[in-house]
Amino acid sequence: MSQVYNWQLGRKMAYPYEEKHPDHQFAFVFNINRCIGCQTCSMACKSTWTFSKGQEYMWWNNVESKPYGGYPQNWDVKALEMLEEANPGKQEWDATKNGARRPYGSYDGMTIFEAASRRVGPEGPQRVMGYLPSDEEWRFPNIGEDTPKGTKGVRGTYDKSGVSLPEHKNWFFYLQRICNHCTYPACLAACPRKAIYKRPEDGIVLIDQERCRGYRKCVEACPYKKSMFRTETRTSEKCIGCYPRIEGKETLANGTPWETRCMTACVGKIRMQGLVEIDKKTGDWANDPQNPIHFLVKKEKVALPLYPQFGTEPNGYYIPPRWVPRAYLHQMFGPGVDQAIERYTAPSRELLAVMQLFRAQQAIIARYEIKDGPKVYETKINGKPWALFNDTVIGYDAKGNELVSMTVEEGLQRRPAERANSI
Ligand code: SF4
Ligand code: SF4
Ligand code: SF4
Repeated sequence: MSQVYNWQLGRKMAYPYEEKHPDHQFAFVFNINRCIGCQTCSMACKSTWTFSKGQEYMWWNNVESKPYGGYPQNWDVKALEMLEEANPGKQEWDATKNGARRPYGSYDGMTIFEAASRRVGPEGPQRVMGYLPSDEEWRFPNIGEDTPKGTKGVRGTYDKSGVSLPEHKNWFFYLQRICNHCTYPACLAACPRKAIYKRPEDGIVLIDQERCRGYRKCVEACPYKKSMFRTETRTSEKCIGCYPRIEGKETLANGTPWETRCMTACVGKIRMQGLVEIDKKTGDWANDPQNPIHFLVKKEKVALPLYPQFGTEPNGYYIPPRWVPRAYLHQMFGPGVDQAIERYTAPSRELLAVMQLFRAQQAIIARYEIKDGPKVYETKINGKPWALFNDTVIGYDAKGNELVSMTVEEGLQRRPAERANSI
C-alpha cells in the first residue's frame, strides 16, 4: 500500500495506488435543509441513464429518509459497524489538531483501506474492507420514508411538546446521494481487472464496460454502495457524472460545461455542482475563492463531506440539517458540524448572496461576483445582531460569460391596477 494525503482526515493514509490527481475535480454541494424529498432528481437520472433491462433496481441518484431509510438498506450502519469491529473504541477524531490542510482536525481511527487487513473472509485478505448487500437490501429505495425517530429512539414514540431548535425531539431528514467521484475511490482500488478509472480532466470515476467482468468487487468495496450490478449485462455500473454535460455536449450548452441532470432538475434548489481546480503539488484544491463550491467548502466551511472517516475523500459536500441531534451529525459529517450549522443559521453577507446561486441556471458557475446593495432588515440571531443586505450576486461560466444575476431579496413585480385582473 502507498501513503497518500487525505485533507479531509488531516493526515496521510494507506491506499493501494500512488497519489495522483486530476486537473479539475467534479464536486457538488447539497443543502439538506431545503430538500423536500420529491425524488425529481432520482427520476431525472433514471429517465436519462437507467431505464433499461437489468436496471430496474438501479438508482444512481437516490434520496433516503434518515435515520431509518437507506439504499441499499442500512448501508452506512453496516460500514460503520465493520470499522468499529476492526478497531474497537478508537474510531475517533481529534478536532484540536486544526490547521489549513486539516480543516476538521485529525481523524485518528481507521479507514476502510487501513482496516481491510483486520477482516479476512473466506476469500482471503482484500484491498478494501466492505460487504456485498443482498438482493433484498437493494429492493427498497426508501423503505423508511418520512419515519421520524422519536424520543426513546424507537419508531412510534413521539414527543408531543412540538418542535424547536436547536434540536427536534422527533426528527428525520432527507439524504440525497449520488456517487462522490472520490479522490481515492474504493471501487477503483478493489477492481482486479483495472476496469475503473478516474478521468484526468475532471476526476469523474467511470467503469469501462469492455473490461468489467462483473466480479462485483467494486460493489463490495464502495462504502457508499454507489456501484451497482446489472444482471442483464453481468457488469457493474455507476453514476457517470453526466459527463457529456460536463464536456459541454448538451445541445444548448454550446461547449460550456453544464450541471448534471439530477442537479438541474432539483425542485427544492438544494443542489450546486461545479468543477474545482486541483493544485498538482499538494493534491488539495487550488485557492480559487470566487468559485462558489470552493467558497462553501473551503472558505466558509458550511458544507461537509459525507462520512469522511471511510477515507475515500468523497467530493460531495452537505450543509447539515439544523434540527437533528448533533451526535448523529458528528458521526455522519465529522467535527465540522457545529461551526457549519452556526454559520448557516446566521449567514455572512457573502454566504447569503452565494446561496442564491443554487440551481439558478443550468451551466456550471465557475466564478461569482457580488455587488453591494442596501441594508433591508435587522434582527438578532442567537442573541447577536444580524443584518440582511439586498446584494446582487452574478455568476459567470468558465469562459467569463455572465450566466445569471440574482438579488438576495426576491424581485417583486407589481401589476398596474388596470391589469390586476387580467390573465
Ligand atoms: S462513491 Fe463509491 S462508486 Fe463512487 S467513486 Fe467513491 S468509491 Fe467509487
Ligand atoms: S450525475 Fe448524472 S449520472 Fe450521476 S446521479 Fe446525477 S443524473 Fe445520474
Ligand atoms: S429534486 Fe431536490 S428537493 Fe427534490 S428530492 Fe431531489 S434533492 Fe430533494
